[in-house]
Amino acid sequence: MQRAAAPQRFDLDLTTPTPIPEAGIDRAVELMRSGRLFRYGETGDDGGEVALFEREFADLLGRRYAIAVNSCGASLFLALRSAGVAPGDDVLLNALTLAPVPGALEHAGAQPVLVEVTDGCTIDIDDLDRKARNGARVLVLSHMRGHVADMEAITAICERHGLTLIEDCAHSLGARWNGRATGTFGHVGCFSTQSFKHLNSGEGGVLVTDDDETAARAILYSGSYMLYGQHLSRPPEVFFEKLRAAIPNYSMRMTAVAAAVLRPQLPLLPERIKGWNNLYQELEDRLAGIPEVRLIARPPAEAFVGSSLQFSLPTLTGAEIQDVLQTCAEYGLHIKWFGRQEASGFTSRPDHWAYLGADQVLPQTQAVLAKLCDIRIPLVMTVHDSVAIAGILDFALGPTRGRIRQVADSPSGMPVDQAVD
Ligand SMILES: *Cc1c(COP(=O)(O)O)cnc(C)c1O
Repeated sequence: MQRAAAPQRFDLDLTTPTPIPEAGIDRAVELMRSGRLFRYGETGDDGGEVALFEREFADLLGRRYAIAVNSCGASLFLALRSAGVAPGDDVLLNALTLAPVPGALEHAGAQPVLVEVTDGCTIDIDDLDRKARNGARVLVLSHMRGHVADMEAITAICERHGLTLIEDCAHSLGARWNGRATGTFGHVGCFSTQSFKHLNSGEGGVLVTDDDETAARAILYSGSYMLYGQHLSRPPEVFFEKLRAAIPNYSMRMTAVAAAVLRPQLPLLPERIKGWNNLYQELEDRLAGIPEVRLIARPPAEAFVGSSLQFSLPTLTGAEIQDVLQTCAEYGLHIKWFGRQEASGFTSRPDHWAYLGADQVLPQTQAVLAKLCDIRIPLVMTVHDSVAIAGILDFALGPTRGRIRQVADSPSGMPVDQAVD
């Protein structure tokens, strides 16, 4: 078989983060000069950058309250605590998610009950409906890699079974289902401002809610030292008076520098989303031309943010996928794969979380993850890069085509192992 000409080396670092706007850099420097990096002051301050960021973030989402903390994982932990989850409680969670999410459940002492995912990378509604009958009161729905499930179906199931919905929107800021933003369906929505998400402050998280008591609890738990009066986004005083003595301080605050670099990013979000979606479309169009690639269908109701692209290689074995991705890596293209035996590159999966116990059997999720690949889309990417990515992947898949053809040609129908070139 004729092998295609070797492609050029791919020289873009797909992990390139989005830079901080100059206004954020200036404000951060100003704060550092003053030394006032802690969010609270003791002399009747107005709360400064973090309080302003919270107010702006709540307004952006159209929710009453936002509480900024030091990570999305921390905001999920606080959401669970604020929803009254006690040690030993079952909490439902879709099995395709990132390690900090089961980590937050474990941190809150909850018992994760994993729900299968579909090949559309979203929670399996039927499996959720089944597992919701076993006593869990809370569902943590992780919009992993920005894939949004049928939110009307989810909301109906939550109502039917009396489930409190907590949305993990770490990777879905700006995404919508039938026009409604993720993070506004649930009792609580949790967001990340870690460098690889849609806003970048290195580390950071935000919890949003419309519920007075939940907001008061989250503010107290996050570590407000009874200075909650400095929050511009906060429920009435009575809620704090009722709760303040009973709630421990978990010290999960956001620093003023993080808020300072985040605030000027908020107005840029629509433009960033447009940029990601254009790049996503470009890359998807190119990958669609590769016969082995199965793209993930995106339902019309889902307005997603294309900051990463997932696809699967359903006709390849695990060993073949490993070889193909190895070849891509040799040409400088690092594609992530959820089928790896060991957790790597933000692609961990349920069997990597041994602390959950081995009794959660998820055959459908295992089958999906075994073939699922993942490419991050940095905003510095160009059309030229999309062409290069598709070219390298197509080239790397060449040897597997040889094998498939040989399988078809072999009189016995058996694979011919060495038939790779
Ligand atoms: C990044 C991410 C998290 C964790 O966010 P941190 O801010 O790093 O704690 C949780 N869930 C998903 C889907 C993520 O992508």
